[in-house]
Amino acid sequence: MAKTVERCSFCGRTKKETDLLITGMDGFICNFCVEQAYGILKEGVLKNQSSKFSLKKEELPKPIEIKDFLDQYVIGQESAKKTLSVAVYNHYKRLMQKADDDGVEIEKSNIIMVGPTGTGKTLLAKTIAKRLHVPFTIVDATVLTEAGYVGEDIESILTRLLQVSDYNVEAAERGIVFIDEIDKIARKGDNPSITRDVSGEGVQQGLLKLLEGSIVNVPPQGGRKHPDQKMIPVNTKNILFICGGAFDGIDRKIANRLNTKVVGYAAAKVQGTYDANNMLQYVAPQDLKSFGLIPEIIGRLPMLCHLDQLDRAALRRILTEPKNSIIKQYMKLFAMDGIALSFDEAVFEFIVDKAIEFKLGARGLRSIVETIMIDVMYEMPSSKEKKMHVTLEYAEEKMKKANIEKLKAA
Ligand code: ADP
Repeated sequence: MAKTVERCSFCGRTKKETDLLITGMDGFICNFCVEQAYGILKEGVLKNQSSKFSLKKEELPKPIEIKDFLDQYVIGQESAKKTLSVAVYNHYKRLMQKADDDGVEIEKSNIIMVGPTGTGKTLLAKTIAKRLHVPFTIVDATVLTEAGYVGEDIESILTRLLQVSDYNVEAAERGIVFIDEIDKIARKGDNPSITRDVSGEGVQQGLLKLLEGSIVNVPPQGGRKHPDQKMIPVNTKNILFICGGAFDGIDRKIANRLNTKVVGYAAAKVQGTYDANNMLQYVAPQDLKSFGLIPEIIGRLPMLCHLDQLDRAALRRILTEPKNSIIKQYMKLFAMDGIALSFDEAVFEFIVDKAIEFKLGARGLRSIVETIMIDVMYEMPSSKEKKMHVTLEYAEEKMKKANIEKLKAA
């Protein structure tokens, strides 16, 4: 009987016609078909990746739904949540609008959030991106200060966005970029002719280009541009920029503005109207200008909102209420070892007291819990114990031994 010729079961090439013929249970596949199959597979994966970031009109959550979602993760900050929900909803509605010829073009509404550090600005932006399934990245404006004067490296803001979109440019072009510490690139004085601070203003000019919407050549690996690097053009027209900053001292500028405005006008009455402890709530675009942002940038950040300082009650809620609160995370960690973790209510109050005492804010809550829990986290997984109850005495004892300086640095 003649020996059958081994052929690729997909293309029919004989073994001789291939570089490699792989033998399977009931057939063969050649190196050409493997390569082709890989191409098909890759294309399919890419398609899936873009659907990971796709947003359909029916899926676009309404502002109330966005706020409901934010409420699950972010405590307080009602007015910022409302502004953000509306701005983001309008932004994505704008992206979905059909090109019709009624001449009405909805403009982009980038957002600026003003509020003390550690009050939830980043958390808000992150949570929104999570709800919308769009690519999201955080960049720090302070790195731009160093390189920004050259005026080129601003583009690297978009490198990160491309990276999280797996270099799917189309997805990146609908993403959200959170620019933190925007206040650090403010010009040092209100009057440009006397106190021109070139580096701050240079960065702002560069940023303006991104905020306005333009085609920007992005270095795919970030860093500084060099001549033979291949650039990826990205259109920023539909990227939503959310900026955040503490704007330390802006409350005085707000107070000044409000007072000047009311001179000779019923000053006494107006003084009574404003809540001097929370001037941020009256923040207006002209205060950002007094702080040193150039008017063009302010004009490109039309949605202005503020965040409140977190009070004791808010810190207490942050500890246990958010969907992924610190305490819930610890319970889960312990549950994974089959251990039921519980706390005296007084422990929570104690943790909040310490965060306030050391002026650590919401960020400090985690490091305090960490300090209290480190020993049990070390010992419990190896013990047979299936329950852990943290009492006030236990927490106090652990905190006594803690290195407060280290906590503050965290
Ligand atoms: P910011 O960007 O305003 O400096 P973050 O959003 O980074 O502050 O907040 C730091 C951490 O503190 C968050 O990751 C979160 O754990 C906690 N946190 C701050 N504010 C809130 C809040 N309003 N609700 C819930 N958690 C908060």
